[in-house]
This record gives sequence, structure tokens and C-alpha cells, in this order.
Amino acid sequence: MKDNNCIFCKIANGEIPSSTLYEDDDFRVILDISPASKGHALILPKEHYNNIGVVPNTLSCRIPELAAKIGIASQKALGASGYNILVNTGESAGQTVFHCHIHIIPRYDNEKGIL
Ligand code: 5GP
Ligand code: ZN
Repeated sequence: MKDNNCIFCKIANGEIPSSTLYEDDDFRVILDISPASKGHALILPKEHYNNIGVVPNTLSCRIPELAAKIGIASQKALGASGYNILVNTGESAGQTVFHCHIHIIPRYDNEKGIL
């Protein structure tokens, strides 16, 4: 299902251009418009789900492997020494876009802090 008012639906389905790192039938991985570090990426399901808590298991089970691949790619391609996998779920937890997305934030030895 698609939500016509949702910007991430439009990005995930290619109606709005984005810096795409990876795409398959179910997911698009893009660069965050306001990155917390170099290579900050977002995994977006192409279907609209308000948050990760309502993504069906058949889809959510793919997320850990995808996240690890993006994180490892950031280490190989950008020289990151680590990465955070972060999911803000609900307004009180800092979620600002209500289409499920998973942050992959590469970390570098010369940068400290978690956000
Ligand atoms: P949240 O706070 O909901 O976990 O994260 C939303 C993220 O989406 C933020 O890091 C924000 O910079 C990013 N974002 C918001 N709008 C856009 C957009 O139009 N394009 C891209 N690439 N990222 C966006
Ligand atoms: Zn959406």
C-alpha cells in the first residue's frame, strides 16, 4: 500500500529522485538528506508502514542482513571504522518521518558521539 502524502513512499518508489545506494523489489537504500556522518544511509521498504513495529516478518527478516551489508560497504568504500544501526520508533523516540526507515550511520575514528 502507498500513502499519497508520504514523501518516503514517493522516494522509495522512484517518483522523487534520490541518491540510491541499493534497490530491489522490496527495499530502496538512500543517502540521508541531513547526514549525521559521511555515508549516512536509510533503508526504506517500498510499501508504506508507519514504523518498524508494523512491518510484516516476511519483510523485516531481511533488514539485519541488508543493514550489515550497507554498514560493511561503508567501511570498505568510505573507511568507516564502525557503524550504528538505528531505528527511531514513535514521536517520543525521535521519529520524524512516519514511513519505516532504518538508519545506517557510518562511524570514523576521528568522530565521537552517537548521533
Ligand atoms: P527519523 O528522525 O524519522 O528517524 O529520521 C528521518 C530522517 O529522514 C532524518 O535523518 C532526515 O534527515 C531524513 N529525511 C527527511 N526527509 C528526507 C528527504 O526528503 N530525503 C532524504 N534523503 N532524507 C530525508
Ligand atoms: Zn510511505
